Amino acid sequence: MIFRRRKSATLAVLLTIFSASFARAKGSLLDEAIALYKAQNYVAATAAFRDCIQKGENTPTAWLYLGHAYSAKADPRAMQTYITITDRFADSSEANVARACLIRLDPRNKLVYTAAKLGSLAEPGRGDMGFVDRVSVYHSVPGHPRICQATVNAVKTAIAALPPQINKYLCDGKATLTIAPNISDRWPGSGDGLKPTDSTMTMGEEGARTYDRNIFIYERKKQRGVDVLLARYSDNEIIHAVYHEIGHAVDVIGGEYSSKPEFRKLLAEDLSTFTASQKQLWSYFLDPGEGFAETVAGLLQRKTAEEPGTITLDSKMPKVNQYVKRLFRL
Ligand SMILES: [Zn+2]
Repeated sequence: MIFRRRKSATLAVLLTIFSASFARAKGSLLDEAIALYKAQNYVAATAAFRDCIQKGENTPTAWLYLGHAYSAKADPRAMQTYITITDRFADSSEANVARACLIRLDPRNKLVYTAAKLGSLAEPGRGDMGFVDRVSVYHSVPGHPRICQATVNAVKTAIAALPPQINKYLCDGKATLTIAPNISDRWPGSGDGLKPTDSTMTMGEEGARTYDRNIFIYERKKQRGVDVLLARYSDNEIIHAVYHEIGHAVDVIGGEYSSKPEFRKLLAEDLSTFTASQKQLWSYFLDPGEGFAETVAGLLQRKTAEEPGTITLDSKMPKVNQYVKRLFRL
């Protein structure tokens, strides 16, 4: 880990970008801390920013400045401070700056971070918690942002709301779930490959993928042609992806229900009621495997009732819906 004493050009630009929000900041404590930082009195500035945060200025701006002040005096606490910003304020613009700073301080992503260090979300000495114990966090490749705690939390939220029989079915079937920044972290170089079932998309643009019974949830899209990861998917997108991929996993564990003649017949009957525009709208899910997975997702999401009404596909396929409901007692 290398700390530079001089502010890099990048950091200077980042600070300029944030000067507007600093200028708007209210409260003399923060103003005083910023004045100390600008005077390059970093020892006093770190104490002042810590004081601000402890007295209620618990904002990404104060934390970001604290990280910069630590960084300026080559204090290893800079890393942890930037990590705190990405965890607590995951989708803020300050978190994006903190991620850029983390990559600058630890370009090869050598620092093991909390979620990944566990290897699994299980805590030592704790009893069997079911499918959440089969979740792991994949290390980011150099230059990619680390997985946000918010993403881990979204996955845990989705799993915590699973009906117990589905949770058990996944454990008994030896399913796993891995959270990775992008497919290109797990399989470097694969991100620009075209998606097998949809040639308009690349695999790096996918939010998730399941191989046999092993689910991969990706936090960010990769920009085409370059090794740049874009904004994090929203919590709701991540939760839906978890349920959809669980749909694929339970399909495989059950011996490929979606390939069985009974399912195919019900799907064909449901699809015969679709208008041309509905077929176009849901073309991705006309594939039996995708139709099955999305139906499971719809039923699970309706059970957990995070956002009723957002899933409409399974309600348009009553026969498939009943079949899946019966299979898993949903
Ligand atoms: Zn799918």
